[in-house]
Amino acid sequence: MLILHKNNNINGLMDADAIIIGAGACGLMCAVQAGYLGKKVILLEKSEKPGAKILISGGGRCNYTNLFASDEQFISANKHFIKSAFNQWTVEDTVGFFETYGISGKEKTLGQLFPDGKNAKDVVAVFTEICADFGQQIICDAEVNDIVVAESEFTIQYTRAGKSRQLKAPKLLIATGGLPIPKMGATDFALRFARKHQLNIIETAPALVPLTITGKDEEWYAQLSGNSVFCEVSNDQITFEENILFTHWGLSGPAILQISSYWRRGEEINIDLLPRQNITEQLEQERSSNGKLLLSTVLNRHYPRKFTEAMGKFLPIEKQVASLTRGEIELIHNRIHLFKVKPAGDKGYDKAEVMRGGIDTSELSSKTLECKRVPGLFFGGECVDITGWLGGYNFQWAWASGFVIAQNL
Ligand SMILES: Cc1cc2nc3c(=O)[nH]c(=O)nc-3n(C[C@H](O)[C@H](O)[C@H](O)COP(=O)(O)OP(=O)(O)OC[C@H]3O[C@@H](n4cnc5c(N)ncnc54)[C@H](O)[C@@H]3O)c2cc1C
Repeated sequence: MLILHKNNNINGLMDADAIIIGAGACGLMCAVQAGYLGKKVILLEKSEKPGAKILISGGGRCNYTNLFASDEQFISANKHFIKSAFNQWTVEDTVGFFETYGISGKEKTLGQLFPDGKNAKDVVAVFTEICADFGQQIICDAEVNDIVVAESEFTIQYTRAGKSRQLKAPKLLIATGGLPIPKMGATDFALRFARKHQLNIIETAPALVPLTITGKDEEWYAQLSGNSVFCEVSNDQITFEENILFTHWGLSGPAILQISSYWRRGEEINIDLLPRQNITEQLEQERSSNGKLLLSTVLNRHYPRKFTEAMGKFLPIEKQVASLTRGEIELIHNRIHLFKVKPAGDKGYDKAEVMRGGIDTSELSSKTLECKRVPGLFFGGECVDITGWLGGYNFQWAWASGFVIAQNL
C-alpha cells in the first residue's frame, strides 16, 4: 500500500509528472486515470486518509452517480461549460469503471446510484488499490500552504509532521474541494490561490443546505420537528418534487436541500403541500357525498396527524366539510397549494453538502480544465463554479473533471 502517513519516511520520493493537491473524489480519479496513461503523480492530502468526503457520502453508502446526469442539473455562471467534460466522461463511464472493480450500481430513487451490497469504503478502496498498482503516491497529513509558479514548473510547499517540505512538478491539479464541513479538512486553498493570482471567483455560498426559520413562525415549525411531507417546492427559477422535513430550527429534507442551492437571503420559497392533486376538488366531492366529514379527517389522508393538528393554527380543521364557507375553502386551497416560507438563513458550511460558486469557469478551458492564464495548472471538482443537485451529480462532476485533467497532464 502506497498511502504514506505521518510516520512513514518519504525521503527518496521522486518528483512526478504532476502533483495533485487533494486526494478527494476528483484528485483520486485523476491519479488513477493518469496511471492508465503511464503518468506518475503524487497526491498531497491534508487529512490522515484519502477520500474522507467519499466515506461519509450518502450516509456512508456513497451515491456515486446519477443515471440521469446531464448539464441540466448543475448551477454555474456558465451553464454550458460542463458539457465538454460530460461528453468525455459519461455516466456510463462511471458505471463501467466501478463495475470493472467489482462495484455494481443499485438505483435507489430518481436515478441515484449506490454500490450494490457495498459501501463508500469500497469505493475509496477502488482508488487506493489502483493507485498502489500504478505506483501513484498518496501522501497524507500533508497540507499544502503555498505554490510558487515559475515558467513550466510549480513548486508546492507543504507541511507534514510539523516540517515544511516542497515538491516540484511541471503540471499541477488543485482539487481541494469546497468549503463544507471544515472539521473534515475542507479548506479555502483553491480560492486563496485564485485570489493571489487574480483569477476570478464566482461568489461562494453553502448549497444543498438546510434552511432556518426564526421569529414568530419558529415555534410553529419547531412543533412539527421530525415530520416529513411530500411537496413541490419552487421559486422563480426552478421546481423540485420531493420530501421536506420539519426540524426544531426550520426546514430540511431533499426538497429543501435542492431549492437551497437556488435560494438567496430575503427570498420566499413556494411550497405546494399537495402536488398534482387539488384540495378544492377533493373538498367539493366530500361536501356532496360525505358532508359530515371533518376537514382534519380529509387532511389526515395526506399528512401525518401532527401536521394536520399544526395546520389548525390557520385552518378550521374541526369543521365539517359541508359547513365550510367559500372563503374558508379558498383559504384552505391557498394554505395547501400556495404555502410560502421566508427562511431566515441557512445552516452554513457545517451542514452544507456542497459549495456554490468557486473558480470562475471562464478562467479555464472547458476541453481540458487547464487554467488559461497559468499553463500547466488545472482546477477540478467542487472548487470550480459547478454545483450539482442532490443525488450523485456532484460526484459525477468530480469523476469527469478528474478524468479530463488526467488526459492533459
Ligand atoms: C455529508 C456529505 C455527503 C455527500 N454525499 C454525496 C453523495 O452521496 N453524492 C454526491 O454526488 N456528492 C455528495 N457530496 C458532495 C461530494 O462529497 C463532493 O462534491 C465531492 O467530494 C467533491 O470532490 P472534490 O474532489 O472536489 O473534493 P473533496 O472530495 O472534498 O476532496 C478535496 C480534498 O482536498 C483536501 N485538501 C483541502 N485543502 C488542502 C490543502 N491545502 N492541502 C492538501 N489537501 C487539501 C481535503 O482534505 C479533501 O480530502 C456529499 C458531501 C457531504 C459534505
